[in-house]
Formats: sequence, C-alpha cells, structure tokens
Amino acid sequence: MSTPPTPALPFMPFALPELGEEEIAEVVDTLRSGWVTTGPKARRFEQDFAAFLGDESLHCIAVNSATAGLHLALEALGIGPGDEVITTTHTFTATAEVVRYLGADVKLVDIDPATLNIDPAAIEAAITPRTKALMPVHYAGLAADMPAIRAIARKHGLKIVDDAAHALPTTSGGQLIGTLDSDATVFSFYANKTITTGEGGMLVTRDAALAARAKVMRLHGINRDAFDRFTAKVPSWYYEIVAPGFKYNLTDIAAALGLHQLKRAHAFQQKRAQLAQIYNEALQDLPLILPPQPAPGELHAWHLYVVRVRPDAPIGRDRLIEVLFNAGIGCSVHYMPLHLHPYWRERYDLQASDFPHSQQAYEQMLSLPLYTRMTEADAQRVVDAVRAALVAHV
Ligand SMILES: *Cc1c(COP(=O)(O)O)cnc(C)c1O
Repeated sequence: MSTPPTPALPFMPFALPELGEEEIAEVVDTLRSGWVTTGPKARRFEQDFAAFLGDESLHCIAVNSATAGLHLALEALGIGPGDEVITTTHTFTATAEVVRYLGADVKLVDIDPATLNIDPAAIEAAITPRTKALMPVHYAGLAADMPAIRAIARKHGLKIVDDAAHALPTTSGGQLIGTLDSDATVFSFYANKTITTGEGGMLVTRDAALAARAKVMRLHGINRDAFDRFTAKVPSWYYEIVAPGFKYNLTDIAAALGLHQLKRAHAFQQKRAQLAQIYNEALQDLPLILPPQPAPGELHAWHLYVVRVRPDAPIGRDRLIEVLFNAGIGCSVHYMPLHLHPYWRERYDLQASDFPHSQQAYEQMLSLPLYTRMTEADAQRVVDAVRAALVAHV
C-alpha cells in the first residue's frame, strides 16, 4: 500500500486583492441607490483621502486610473510639445506614456542600485533648457530621494509630479507621500496595488489652480462654476465646455470599494511589512540581494518584495522563476525597463548601456508573492521553495 499522494497546494499568485464584506455591502448599497457613476461616494472618497493624508486643505481628485491622474497633472501644469520630462527607466510604461499624450518628450534616466529608485545625480545630468518637470516613482513602495529631487527642482525651476502608484502609505522624512511639496502626487488603485477600487486613482495637489484645471479636464472640459459667478439661480441643466477634456471620472461603484479599502490601508501596510520581515530574515543567507529597507521611522508601503539573484547563485533569475512556478508559486518582474521596450527604445534610440544599473537589476530581479491575504505559512512556503531552488544545486 502506498501512501496517498499529498494533495497539491493551490497555486499562489504573486498578488491578490483583499475585499471584505464591508466593501461588498457598500457596492450593493451603491447599486441599490441608483447612483452608479460619479456621485456622493466619489466625493466622500476624496474627502476621506484628504483626511487620511492628514491635511484637509489638500485637493484630492478621484480618477479612473493613476494613468489618467498623471495625464491630468501634466496637462494642468501646461506640459506640451517642445518640453521634456525626466523619469526613471525602471517603471511601468504609464509613468512615461502620459508625457507623450501631451506631445512632450520623455528623458529616461538610470536608478540608484542601492534603492532601485531614480538617481538624483542622473536627473541632474539629464536636465536641458527644455526640461519642465520631474516624475519620481516611489519604486516598490520605498520613497525616492525627495530632499535631493526637491533641491534639483528648485535650483532649475522644475515641477515635480510624483508617481505614487506604489506608495500608499509611504513616508519621506516622516511625511506621507502626497503631503510633500510636490506639485502633484498620483496614487493607483489598480487591482494589484496596496488598496484597490478595481481600477482607479487619486490626484493630490496643494495647487488650487492645478486642481481646478484637472477637475474640468477630468470630465469633458465641463465647467459648471463659470455660471455661478453671475447668478445665484443656476439651472441644473446648464454647463459650459471650456476645453476638449477627457473621460477620467471615478464611478461611485469603484469609490464604494475605496471608502473601505482606505480605512484598512494602515493595517494592510503593517501586514505587508510583517511578511516582508519574514522574507528578510529567512532569505538573508541565500545568494540574493534583498530589497532596500526604509530608514528607521519611515513607512514603506511594501507594494512589491523584489529580490535580485546574485551572480554567485547556482541558477539565474529566469530559472528561479520557472522553478517557483513549478512549485505552484507565481512571481513577476517589475519591470522590464522602458529602455528595452521597442517603442521607447526606438523613439529615443536608447541602449541598455545607457542604463547600467537598471539593466543589471532587471536581469537579476523577481518579485516574490506579497499580499495581505498571505498567511505566515504561505510566506514560509515561498521561503522553502526559494531555498530549495538556490541550495539544491550547490
Ligand atoms: C500601476 C502603475 C501605474 C498605473 O496605474 P493605473 O491605475 O493602472 O493607471 C503607473 N505607474 C506605476 C509605477 C504603476 O505601478
């Protein structure tokens, strides 16, 4: 008699949302209310977001993606043809594509290999008389070097738009990303981000004029305020089109999720940090470069847990991903840098040798599963599989 086979463990994805009964009830309430597009819940989500950031004077503008929010921010700052915007090559294409939407040019620069964040020295070297704005990305949830980036922006008179798609909640100098003195900060609520509305984003700014423009452009270039100045009696049907705007508004169905996800954002961060700590301790003796850690007292959102396979490891990154996949563990790579993608490479004639740190990190890196529904046993399963893969071959 042979022992029955161990039932195969279910496949573990690299990310999963955590949506509970409160989110479900709020969505159902929205559906029953009959108000399914942008309405009272989107408005409340914006107010709650400002409260979450701890500064109710911030303008928070809910949009249907971070890509939309980044586009609106740059549009409101007047970025256009002839302008250049500097960002990291080590990001998702959304960060850079919005610059092209506006007919401006993207200057991609390399990362600091210690942090995987945009290198301030590389920013400074890329500035030309055409440069108008900087777009730091808080990669994986670790704040970019904002003091250095702010100093460069001030010195050269540049705008800053933070791509904070990974950075809820993240701090820099003890202040939440979104409350720094950047011109705008944009968060993502895409399905795999630290909080989710399915699809969604939030544009945050202190600049009242930027906020006003972004609100108009968020919805077809409609301005209802224009009428208010001339009469107290605004007919409900009256509006004016002041620009060819976009269709970037967040639905109340999505905002219903956001209201409850936001309440859980700090608990989610703590859970992610705990899981990261399990990985940090259990993987430290393996031939891996573990992710950069936040400075003491700073919050790291831990959107991603990125390890790099060292050259002295018995197998390389591609093989490790395969071995983990065969063990039922999903990993991913964040990111194949923009300079390797055909569009960006050909548009700006880019070479891998222009971005040695991003290139090397890319060749070595993988993102291990990290999501709030993971148990410690799940994390241990990942650890055991990584260890088996890297030690079995020695
Ligand atoms: C997810 C992501 C975006 C885009 O977010 P969407 O909400 O999907 O538009 C932009 N930048 C980075 C770095 C991202 O990870």
